[in-house]
Amino acid sequence: MSCYRPDDAATATPAEGAGALDHNPYALMQPRMPARPPKEARNGARVIANHVEPQGVYLPNNNVLTPYMRSPEYVQMSTAAAITLGIMKGRMYRCSCTRCLNLLLTYPEGCRANCAYCGLARHREAERDYADRNFIRVDWPAVPLAQTIDIVARDGAATPFHRMCISMITHPRSDEDTVTVLKAWTDRIDPSTVPVSILSNPTTMQREDVQRLRDLGADIFTVALDAATPEIFDRTRGKGVQSPHSWRHYWQILEDARDIFGPQKFGAHIIVGMGETEHDTLSLIQRLVDMGGHSHMFCFFPEKGSLMDHLPATPRDQWRRVQLARYLIDYRGVRVDQMRFDGEGRVIDFGIPTGELDDVIDQGVAFRTSGCPGKVAEDVSACDRPYGDSPPSDIASYPFQPNRGDIRKIRRQLRIVPKKAAPAPDGPT
Ligand code: SF4
Repeated sequence: MSCYRPDDAATATPAEGAGALDHNPYALMQPRMPARPPKEARNGARVIANHVEPQGVYLPNNNVLTPYMRSPEYVQMSTAAAITLGIMKGRMYRCSCTRCLNLLLTYPEGCRANCAYCGLARHREAERDYADRNFIRVDWPAVPLAQTIDIVARDGAATPFHRMCISMITHPRSDEDTVTVLKAWTDRIDPSTVPVSILSNPTTMQREDVQRLRDLGADIFTVALDAATPEIFDRTRGKGVQSPHSWRHYWQILEDARDIFGPQKFGAHIIVGMGETEHDTLSLIQRLVDMGGHSHMFCFFPEKGSLMDHLPATPRDQWRRVQLARYLIDYRGVRVDQMRFDGEGRVIDFGIPTGELDDVIDQGVAFRTSGCPGKVAEDVSACDRPYGDSPPSDIASYPFQPNRGDIRKIRRQLRIVPKKAAPAPDGPT
């Protein structure tokens, strides 16, 4: 079996977490309490009062008056998607484009939730207008929906995008506007050319909303659980930070999605390193697989301006162990109960023979970004937006196929020395 010693000092890499810790423990990962914004900054009041007319694409700029932009006429998209779409200039380290066009609903009032790790959270109202907030480490330009659809429809089968994803936020208009964006998209773009995923906001949804999105042609439905346990959910997205989300309701919508979208067509987002154990995360992943779904996993990164920006990023050894084990559960039929864990819930045995584990590590797919599939392979995500959970200098989720040098680094982080000379993928090191 594939045993190894997590405390092997001879091959250890420095911990990214707190001091010498090789994981982010629950006691450490306490978010700050949100401050109450002044009345004149609440609910997008500044933007609504100024009512500046938008002039096409808006690139986030905290030094100018933010235009009044509202979905469904406007959507925001990641910097990577804007570069790939050709509406923004820029280059991405070791990537030419992203395969997923994520369209984020936008309103001057912003998201009404207060999730502790999120740059879009409500408590930032005093500091930045909604459309100017950083989210998952980058700016999100606002673009007219019609212009976005025109470009993708014009490119037809030559589009670089393998998938489009409508990302909902917590707002009273979110359900209705998601339907409008989905209809506008499928009116012009064949869902078999660019299938649509929904990154849902369960707090404002009921079962019939899930059904409606399926009936209108959505391909995959995901729920951003983000937290791996009910305690962490409550602390980071619920009462702990004056936020409206409930673990129970998120699970209700996830189970509705299982019933309505069917096997392999639903999933949940999980952030690793917010205080849960590796066993917690992998048990959740097993539960999703047993339901017929998938997990999409991200490494915790302290987002600037968020209520957790004072906390350490997930140490790479914790992250790599969970990444590898998650891949084995999701795509190789290994079960969490075949794996072994130490007293702190860390993986000490991945449950497969050493040679097989070596092969999986060397193939490298386990360490790529995870998300809904694209057109390459079932286990290769379309959602390869680069550097959403780490800086390029210390990559957590690889937005491309890791090369030999990357695999060597991953092995050092995992502290797993190859037991045989295995060929690694070609490519410059
Ligand atoms: S609901 Fe989503 S967008 Fe809103 S604060 Fe929470 S994580 Fe951020």
